[in-house]
Amino acid sequence: MDWLQLAEISTSQWATFGGLGVGAVVVAAVVMKSRGTKKKPLDFSDPQARLRHALTSGKTSFWNRLSATLSKNISEEALGALEQILVEADIGYETSNQLVQDMKKAFKAGKFTKHDELMVYLKAELKKRLGGDAPKLIKAKKGPTVILVVGVNGVGKTTSISKLAKFLAEQGGKVILSASDTFRAAAVDQLAKWAERLDLEIVRGQTGQKPDAVAFDAATKAVAKGFDYLIVDTAGRLHTQKNLMKELAKISRSISKVIDGAPHETILVIDANTGQNAVTQTEKFSEAAEVTGIFLTKLDGTPKGGIVVRIKEELSVPVKFVGLGEKPEDIAPFDADTFVDALFA
Ligand code: GDP
Ligand code: MG
Repeated sequence: MDWLQLAEISTSQWATFGGLGVGAVVVAAVVMKSRGTKKKPLDFSDPQARLRHALTSGKTSFWNRLSATLSKNISEEALGALEQILVEADIGYETSNQLVQDMKKAFKAGKFTKHDELMVYLKAELKKRLGGDAPKLIKAKKGPTVILVVGVNGVGKTTSISKLAKFLAEQGGKVILSASDTFRAAAVDQLAKWAERLDLEIVRGQTGQKPDAVAFDAATKAVAKGFDYLIVDTAGRLHTQKNLMKELAKISRSISKVIDGAPHETILVIDANTGQNAVTQTEKFSEAAEVTGIFLTKLDGTPKGGIVVRIKEELSVPVKFVGLGEKPEDIAPFDADTFVDALFA
């Protein structure tokens, strides 16, 4: 199966995202958990059910918080008060301020007077900002597509790799993993466990083998055995930032010796809860590697979906996937329209 088919697949899977991803749903799930109610496993085969779940538990959603701030009749002053809520949703000061200025102008121009009209306006505005086609993974012209996965410790790299691998395998892709986070033995074991569970091939190297050597072996095997995708796990921390960046460059070089143009994708994994850090991390990693996309994790644990807007506005790296939980199926390709609809659900 080709990545070009992703767009079609993403539509239905995005409904799923609406059911889990942002604000209200998340809070509801957390509340349920704290009451000791076991969270129902999410059924990918019925995305509509998840969506309904989202729509019926919207008390603290982004939109509900916004509309609670506004009195019945929208006034210019009231619109000013929205800025804080936008900032709290991690949309970022600058963008929040711009949005409010634009809203005030639109209000003065008579573009809306009621809540629901404002919602329509704001949705369109956010969709415009996030806009464009759903970002797809870059695919190799020939041979295996190599996806290098980078990011700081604990953001969810290894977990996201298992999600990505499952996602690609379900589309018929033949996936092999490279356990190139040799900095910690536990990291290799963690990836190996996922590989076993998902029945995926993995190259884990000998003890003491360097990450770029493991990646080289994995690339060689990927070519020899006709794999479609090679996903490379990397360390999130070394003794210094400089060492880490050097190592990533080394890994890239060693894979490119075996596979033309590799890595085709360098996916930066970012935790949606980290606010400003998400921006800093993207800047740092972009200095060392050509980051081609972001995998934004832990959106299930935060009402701060606005970070997606901020990333888009402040950095020119597209969010390609989002993580919605700890299981391999908790992944959705990013799609702006569905995302914004979920924010307002
Ligand atoms: P790494 O150090 O970057 O490889 O991070 P890991 O993949 O080991 O993940 C760190 C923790 O974050 C683990 O407990 C994961 O289960 C958890 N995690 C990863 N992605 C998500 C997600 O999308 N949602 C939630 N709730 N937890 C996640
Ligand atoms: Mg890891």
